[in-house]
Amino acid sequence: MRCIAVGPVAAGRHRECSILIPKTVPECLSCGACCFGGHDRYIRLFPEDLARGLPDHALHWDGAEVFMAMTGGHCAQLTLTDAGTLACAVYDSRPTACRAFRAGSFECAMARRHRGAEAQRMTSGPAPLPDDLPAAGVIDAMSPGRRRVPGDRA
Ligand code: SF4
Ligand code: SF4
Repeated sequence: MRCIAVGPVAAGRHRECSILIPKTVPECLSCGACCFGGHDRYIRLFPEDLARGLPDHALHWDGAEVFMAMTGGHCAQLTLTDAGTLACAVYDSRPTACRAFRAGSFECAMARRHRGAEAQRMTSGPAPLPDDLPAAGVIDAMSPGRRRVPGDRA
């Protein structure tokens, strides 16, 4: 999502910790993992970022410091599109930290490892059921695999 380079990257292992860097990276619009972070100070903004025209509602001020506002564990500007992809609502104004993040980098691999599942949950939602299917209870009896499990979206 926030990378400046997308596409196949060299496979290998990161020399510091031997984490496997996969041969290819997903399209950022189908990933979004690096836009997820566990706290309100995840994406710090620099003075030049404030000159990019980011809307006020995208900002989270903490004293004199400013960050991208977060919601639901991700940057509030990460948006699920009608096509089911994860897009940046302020892409042209995105901050320096996002511009510097490279698809296929070690940080990208770590983001996908630790946040990829959360990002994918944001895209999935409940599977739409065809109109002609029987009632939900009947489906459960016929096909246990379709039952909701704890953590599924309602
Ligand atoms: S984690 Fe990597 S592949 Fe996923 S959106 Fe970010 S830069 Fe793109
Ligand atoms: S500003 Fe855009 S690219 Fe940066 S974290 Fe937020 S949604 Fe992702």
